[in-house]
Formats: sequence, C-alpha cells, structure tokens
Amino acid sequence: MLSLPQTYAQLCARVAAAAQQSGRSSDAITIVAVSKTHPIALIEEAYACGMRHFGENRAAEMAEKATVLQLPDIKWHFIGTLQSRQSLPVAQFGHTFHAVDRLKIARRLANQLAQQARTLQLFVEVNVSGEMTKAGFDCSTWEKNGAQRQQLLDAIDQIDALPHVQIAGLMMMAPYGAAEPEARALFARTRKLSDWLASQRPAWQGQLSMGMSDDFEWAIKEGATHIRPGRILFGSRHY
Ligand SMILES: *Cc1c(COP(=O)(O)O)cnc(C)c1O
Repeated sequence: MLSLPQTYAQLCARVAAAAQQSGRSSDAITIVAVSKTHPIALIEEAYACGMRHFGENRAAEMAEKATVLQLPDIKWHFIGTLQSRQSLPVAQFGHTFHAVDRLKIARRLANQLAQQARTLQLFVEVNVSGEMTKAGFDCSTWEKNGAQRQQLLDAIDQIDALPHVQIAGLMMMAPYGAAEPEARALFARTRKLSDWLASQRPAWQGQLSMGMSDDFEWAIKEGATHIRPGRILFGSRHY
C-alpha cells in the first residue's frame, strides 16, 4: 500500500507526462481531488501533501467540511448535480461549480452569491455521449445539429449575463468503463465544441473539466485543464 504522499506524487508525475505529450506544462492542469464521502482527517492529510482543490457532490457535506477546514487557499469544487434547494452551501463555500446543467440553477446561485458578496466560477456541463443517465446540455449530435448548438449558446449567453458568476468552460464525463478510443473521441468532441464556442464568443475562456481516475490521461491529451480524480487518490468510497 502506498502512502497518500506517494500516491499523489505518482498522480502528479502521470499528469505531467500526459501534459507534456499534449505540449503543455503540468501547471496548466488543475487537479481537483475528489474527496466526497471521505473524512475530514483525510482531506487534512491531502492538504499537507500540497493538494488545494477538493471536489464534493453533496452540499451539506461540503458545508461541513468547509466550515471545519478553514485552511489558507483551500478551494471547494462542487462536482455533481445540484438540487435547487441545496444550492446555498455552494454559494457560501464554493470556489467552482462544475455541473451547471440548467439556467435556473445558475440564476439561483447568482442571487445567493449576491447576498453573500461572493463570486463563483462555473463549468457548463455537456452531454456529448447522449447517454440517457447523464446530466448536462444535450450536445450528442452538436456537429450536425444547429439547434443543439444554438440552445447551448443561448444558455451560455444568459448565464454569462448573470452577476457574480464566471463561466470557465465546459465539463463532461465519459461513459463509465469506456475504452480509450471511445473516451478520447468524446473528450476531443468536447474540446472541438469549446473551440466552436470560442469562434462564436471571443471572450469564451475555453477551460475543460474532464477526466477521472480511469481516464484522466486521455482527457489531458485531448485538452483537459481540470481533472477530477477520486478513487485513485483516496481509495474506494464509503457510500
Ligand atoms: C465521483 C466523481 C468523480 C471522481 O470519480 P473517480 O472515479 O473516483 O475518480 C469525478 N467527477 C464526478 C462528476 C464525480 O461524481
């Protein structure tokens, strides 16, 4: 069994190698350590290893962890689907919300952020695989489907017009267990969609949140700027 510092060092080395192969420096990749379900003591240990970005997918759990762990420079990322009634902790404690899948949740967060005098970075979640179980704006056939592109662009324009939020880019998930060719094709299609958005909106930031424990290297090679590894750092989850 490797210790957490060893596991993290290995992950960083793999990230650096994949970044280099895509002609980038590892500084261009943010590792969001997905700490959901894991205890506060483990996050403290991860912080001591140098990790600063942590991913959670339950609002109450993130609120509790953020309240207890008020460490310098620690950044909380909410990575899952967010129910409207659970949005307040994300507005209070979140640095980045990765899974904007509807305009309504962005509006609600903007209102709550105004009350908190805070800002939040957002990723807009897209579903490029067309899996029924996946959240996100339907971009399953975006290349040949002008209506899909327009719907996404309209949503992005409306989110962009909201105060207190800033869109960093797109977020997606490859199908569970997908093999390399399939996963990489989906990552590449997401990057091309982002490139298309940049061609339509010069201010588009074009960051890409994609890649988890099993596919982060492929995602980096296809342009990911934020990866979300969980199990590979912290082992199996508790629920
Ligand atoms: C749980 C989760 C992860 C981490 O998954 P691992 O397979 O543990 O790396 C990443 N992204 C999202 C959206 C998740 O829900």
